[in-house]
Amino acid sequence: MTRILPEIATLEQHQQQVLNDPDAYRPACCPHCGKSGLHHHGYYERNAPKGEGIAFLLRALFILRFFCPGCRRSCSRLPGCLSPRRHYWWKSQQEVLELLIAGHSIYGVAQQKWPYYRTVRRWWKRLETCFEQHALSLRSRFPDLGRSVDWKDFWSQSFSIMTLAQVMGWLDHDGVYVP
Ligand SMILES: [Zn+2]
Repeated sequence: MTRILPEIATLEQHQQQVLNDPDAYRPACCPHCGKSGLHHHGYYERNAPKGEGIAFLLRALFILRFFCPGCRRSCSRLPGCLSPRRHYWWKSQQEVLELLIAGHSIYGVAQQKWPYYRTVRRWWKRLETCFEQHALSLRSRFPDLGRSVDWKDFWSQSFSIMTLAQVMGWLDHDGVYVP
């Protein structure tokens, strides 16, 4: 099951979707046991990511929960604009990663952008260590990416044809671990 709805690109769109058609977030089957027929099961509140000023515009960010009567566990899905574990926007992460790809130092990037040095370093390391897995999945969909010479070049080319949010949407769709 995919944890992300890639077509939801902004939080405004997410709020509208939750109001008008919350069923779009209902997974076709349970991520734990695979059974279908999940019920709506309330929501949880999540902080809007930092760094875009939009947090002030939104009173609260609601993520719908679903319950599986088969295994009695719950699950939820996120709009494409939010990353599952990070409290940052994909867009902001992409800016950071693009600076690093362009040759800026981790220290330098952490100085001019708001994430901490350690956060920036973690993103960068993860991009390197997950490269094989990410490349395998993305190259099967975007054959042109096969021409890249190394992992930095691979990401630089990826960002020239799509956003990090879109990349992560595809990886999630293919069942590849999304950092
Ligand atoms: Zn289940």
